[in-house]
Amino acid sequence: MTERVDLTGKRAIITGASSGIGLAIARELARNGVSVALLARRERRLEKNVSKIVEDGGIADFVTVDLCDEEANCAAIAAAASKLDGLDILVNAAGLAKQANLSDGDSGDWKAMLNLNVLALAVATREALPYFPEEGGHIVNISSMSGHRVPGKGGFYSATKFAVRAMTEGLRQELREAGNPTRVSSISPGFVNTELLDHYFGGEKTAYERIGHPILEPEEIADLVLHQLTLPKTVEVTDILVRPTAQRT
Ligand code: NDP
Repeated sequence: MTERVDLTGKRAIITGASSGIGLAIARELARNGVSVALLARRERRLEKNVSKIVEDGGIADFVTVDLCDEEANCAAIAAAASKLDGLDILVNAAGLAKQANLSDGDSGDWKAMLNLNVLALAVATREALPYFPEEGGHIVNISSMSGHRVPGKGGFYSATKFAVRAMTEGLRQELREAGNPTRVSSISPGFVNTELLDHYFGGEKTAYERIGHPILEPEEIADLVLHQLTLPKTVEVTDILVRPTAQRT
């Protein structure tokens, strides 16, 4: 096997790093010697997360941004790349899930998911690409099992995650065509124990009470991202589907 990629000294932007999967990825990358820039809207959370990473010996900074505002999204990627003095990795983890029916759902919910899960991801990716070195970088999109099959009541969310899958493959083909060696990967998890599930299910019950079986932890997704990033440069993992063992569909 050719040599695995050594992440020491690499620079990464992680969107959606104020909580959940994005935060777990930021921590895991920092533990492995990557300088990380955390992006999201909740400034206090970002401050706290960065302090903890630095306390643990990592290099981290943050940029507060609403990624759905295109101008702000562009400026945030530029600011983060400048803070990091370049860029090797972009992890698109920011995302929103709501049960919004197609038959009688609220178009405000549809727009919120479309704007963040699809458009903001495309903008951040486009803006990040020019900062990657000539030898290539790596983009990881956090997709979902809902990008592979449609869960009941999650039709619109699912549509945005099918789009992430299409964008992952579409970008890959564009880059290969252009002779750009930047790798593009995604991860498609089933249920993960994060705040997103509270938004998705709503109500008082915990995600576990709703789902009724153990679910994945964000650290388990971070471990898979690390795996994708450290595989030899000649290996490009397009997608990883990962589910709690007890999840039926
Ligand atoms: P969280 O709710 O914990 O994380 C979502 C992140 O997105 C937060 O950091 C949030 O920060 C950020 N975010 C939301 N809106 C915006 C915005 N307008 N601008 C900038 N940042 C924003 O949930 P997860 O960690 O679970 O979600 C991460 C990804 O994982 C999503 O793409 C989701 O679809 C995907 N996923 C999650 C699964 C699960 O079961 N949890 C399963 C499969 C996929 P802030 O509010 O501070 O802006």
